[in-house]
Amino acid sequence: NALRCSSYLVLTSCRFDRHVHGKKVLVVTNTTIADLYLDKVVDALTKGNPNVSVENVILPDGEKYKNMETLMKVFDKAIESRLDRRCTFVALGGGVIGDMCGFAAAAFLRGVNFIQIPTTVMAQVDSSVGGKTGINHPLGKNLIGAFYQPQCVLIDTDTLNTLPDRELASGLAEVIKYGLIRDAEFFEWQEKNMEKLMARDPDAFAYAIKRSCENKAEVVSRDEKESGLRATLNLGHTFGHAIETGFGYGEWLHGEAVAAGTVMAVDMSYRLGWIDSSIMKRVNDILQRAKLPTAPPETMTVEMFKSVMAVDKKVADGLLRLILLKGPLGNCVFTGEYDRKALDDTLSAFCKS
Ligand code: NAD
Repeated sequence: NALRCSSYLVLTSCRFDRHVHGKKVLVVTNTTIADLYLDKVVDALTKGNPNVSVENVILPDGEKYKNMETLMKVFDKAIESRLDRRCTFVALGGGVIGDMCGFAAAAFLRGVNFIQIPTTVMAQVDSSVGGKTGINHPLGKNLIGAFYQPQCVLIDTDTLNTLPDRELASGLAEVIKYGLIRDAEFFEWQEKNMEKLMARDPDAFAYAIKRSCENKAEVVSRDEKESGLRATLNLGHTFGHAIETGFGYGEWLHGEAVAAGTVMAVDMSYRLGWIDSSIMKRVNDILQRAKLPTAPPETMTVEMFKSVMAVDKKVADGLLRLILLKGPLGNCVFTGEYDRKALDDTLSAFCKS
């Protein structure tokens, strides 16, 4: 149900008119992506559709701008352009733009039509699908937002050709996550094909994106509002968010923080006796092959982790619930029932103080 409106098409050959509501479109993008793809998208939106007028708002680029002040620029443009309830917002960019544009679409006039055109690996395999939107607060990531499904998700894998190497690797952290939490066969495929992915092999990428979206769609369609199962998509994210918040938004990329966070979650799972050591080794190996970090920045302290983790969205009645691996590869649990000593031991093992 959550994904009933989503489809996966190639940008250049796609007809937008089926998905655009009304005559006015607002493309939300940033300074980097506008130079690369804004004209193409405006052409595609207006081709054969002369009654459509397209406005755009070009936001500053970066996770540090995923905040209320930048969000207001989208509302300012929408109101100045006299957009009404029949308009369509188009998110053209990575996860930052997708999350902000989606939240703006959810809130503007209490909800307008919304299309995602993700242009990073992270956004194509994860953030554009499933309807989580939002912005950061100085005290924590993604704390303000809404569940709001796009009308459709348009993925053009050619856009990945302009993506910097570090961003490409960052997205792979989420691809690896799907294998670990629920799809051992996909993880094994990644172990065989990581070099192809790193070399941007189009067929390998098409498969990885498709399989990732299928995994995410299955989870979200069973638990759209995250009462339990959906939280498993956050493997490594509780530790990762602490790194992003503690270290400063944008210093480490989201996927880099998730990668280090995944290693910490796997380490803790092993300390609890829930997985065997071969899984720890395989996780370290695949992340290294994807050129992702396997430990947090040296400046992170136990206290920094603890203070950010205390305001995590997965805290319920004061208890921090975590996603941990349990059993054979491809199995995980979302639980608050674990020995606190294992968490303390993991934090001490990865922090100097
Ligand atoms: P991002 O949006 O910051 O994009 C990364 C960088 O790549 C930016 O500088 C961007 O301008 C640039 N870029 C984007 N597409 C490009 C292209 N085709 N060619 C060249 N440069 C390009 O980062 P991201 O990794 O895409 O997304 C991270 C964000 O996504 C985080 O804020 C995270 O919280 C969010 N997220 C949300 C969900 C969700 O379910 N909503 C899931 C995962 C992550």
